[in-house]
Amino acid sequence: MNYIVLDLEWNQGNTPPSVSGDPLTFEIIEIGAVKLNSDRIMTGEFSELIKPQVFKTMHYVTGKIIHLKMQELKNERPFPEVMKQFLDWCGPDAVFCTWGPLDLYELQRNMAYYNMGSLSDGPFAFYDVQKLFALEYEKEHKRIALESAVDMLNIEKDIPFHRAFSDAYYTAKVFTEIRRGDTLRHYSYDVFTPPKDKRSEPHLFFGNYDKFISRPFATKEAMLADRRVRDCSCYICRARAKKLVKFFSPNGKYFLGLSKCDTHGFIKIKVRIRKTDDGRYFTVKTRKIVSEEDAKEIIARSAKYKKSREMAGNRKEG
Ligand SMILES: [Zn+2]
Repeated sequence: MNYIVLDLEWNQGNTPPSVSGDPLTFEIIEIGAVKLNSDRIMTGEFSELIKPQVFKTMHYVTGKIIHLKMQELKNERPFPEVMKQFLDWCGPDAVFCTWGPLDLYELQRNMAYYNMGSLSDGPFAFYDVQKLFALEYEKEHKRIALESAVDMLNIEKDIPFHRAFSDAYYTAKVFTEIRRGDTLRHYSYDVFTPPKDKRSEPHLFFGNYDKFISRPFATKEAMLADRRVRDCSCYICRARAKKLVKFFSPNGKYFLGLSKCDTHGFIKIKVRIRKTDDGRYFTVKTRKIVSEEDAKEIIARSAKYKKSREMAGNRKEG
C-alpha cells in the first residue's frame, strides 16, 4: 500500500457557470503529488502542468496566488493524458491524502468531464490531513492554512508554497507528523460516486460520532422514509432512543433531528442532502452525542422553523 499525497491547482471563469454556461466550475491546470510507502517514507514525486481546454484566460485571483501564466501552459499536455499518467504512477492500492476536503472531488469532476469515469465505483476512504492536523495539534480543532501548520511543526520551508507539488510536499511532511493512532482512525469519505445499492452503503464509527452514506433515492422524501436514514437509535449502545425532535430542514441543505438515549444522553442527527448528477438524492448522515445546551438549541431551532412554516401557510391561505 502507498499513500498518495496530492494537491491540485485549478483555474475558473470570471463569471459563474450558471451564467456563462461553462461545463466546469474549476479546471485543473496542475497536479502535484508525493508517494509515501506504508511507513510514510517518501518514495516518489509527480509534478505536471496541464494545457487548459475550457478556460483560456487565467482568473485574476488564481493567477495571483499560484504565479502561473496561461502562456506557460500552452505547450503542456491536456488533462486526459496527464491524468492517465498520474493514475499509472499512483498504482492500484493508493490511499489518497489531501489538505482539505475538495481536491479529490474536483479531480473526479474533471475526469467526468473527459468521460474518464471516477476514482472508485462508490464512496472511498481518504485522509484529509488538514482535519487530522486539527484533531491532533489544534486546541479548538480548527482548520488552518497549510503554511501555518508547517510553521507550528517547525518544518523547514525549503521550497515556495502555492504550487501543486510544493503543497503536496508540505502536506506529506505534516502527514508524517500525525502520530496518534486514534487520529489516524479519522478517515474522510469521498462521495463523488454514491453507493450503488443497499449492500454497499458504508456505516462507520468514529468514537464520538457515526456516519452513514446512503444510496440515491428519487426524492428527498423517499430518502427520509428509508429505515436506515431515519434511524435515530443510539449508535453507541444501539438502544432505541426517544425521539425529541422530528426531522426538519432549516435551510434545504440538511435535515436535523434529536433523540435521547437513557444511558448516553442527547443524540443530534444530521441528514445532509446530496444531489447526484442525474438529479437523485442521497445522504451523508451523522449521529453525535451532544450536550444539553446543544440539545436545547436544536429544540429552539425546530420551534422557530415550525412557526415560520405556520406563518407562511397563513399567508398563503389569507
Ligand atoms: Zn446509548
